[in-house]
Amino acid sequence: MDILSRKDQVNTKEDNKDVQLLKDKMWTRKTTARITMLGRKVIPEEGDILKRIRKNNMREKKVTQTLEKNDGLTWEEDGVAYMEGRAYVPNNKELREEILRGHHDPVDVGHPGQLRMMELLKRNYWWPGLKEDVKKYVQGCFKCQQNKVQYQKKAEELHPLEIPQGPWQEISINIIGPLPKSNRMDVIVVIVD
Ligand SMILES: [Zn+2]
Repeated sequence: MDILSRKDQVNTKEDNKDVQLLKDKMWTRKTTARITMLGRKVIPEEGDILKRIRKNNMREKKVTQTLEKNDGLTWEEDGVAYMEGRAYVPNNKELREEILRGHHDPVDVGHPGQLRMMELLKRNYWWPGLKEDVKKYVQGCFKCQQNKVQYQKKAEELHPLEIPQGPWQEISINIIGPLPKSNRMDVIVVIVD
């Protein structure tokens, strides 16, 4: 589990408590500000990736064979092979790694686990051994391993907050980071009033 989804869980619990609180005291207000996106998306532009796929027209045998079958599920368009609607990425280490990184590291992508990362990737791209590459990438991600350890340690320390008597009596600011850089930014600030 990554640090962002952990935050979601904590907030859900507090929101439930909040419903009860609002019933009791109408003037009690709680605002949760989540700044989840600092900087623009850093997933490489699709057009740019397609350009590079075109330049790199080395195709694995499995792909050319599937294309030759002409089964209607695979086709070629403008120099790009599409396998069931997903662009085939040639066996170029740099290109494949960049695509993997773009679907995992950026702050707004949030270090998804293998299944979620596969889901995101398969919307647009495919290559033989993609699943295995995703698995290796997630298992090899230093941040993900680090977050796992932090989560296990912190789980025992959690305890419920006392219910404040009114707004602005208790404000907590949580700074999460450093995360992989997105447009020179690498932290998320969560403010709870
Ligand atoms: Zn990660």
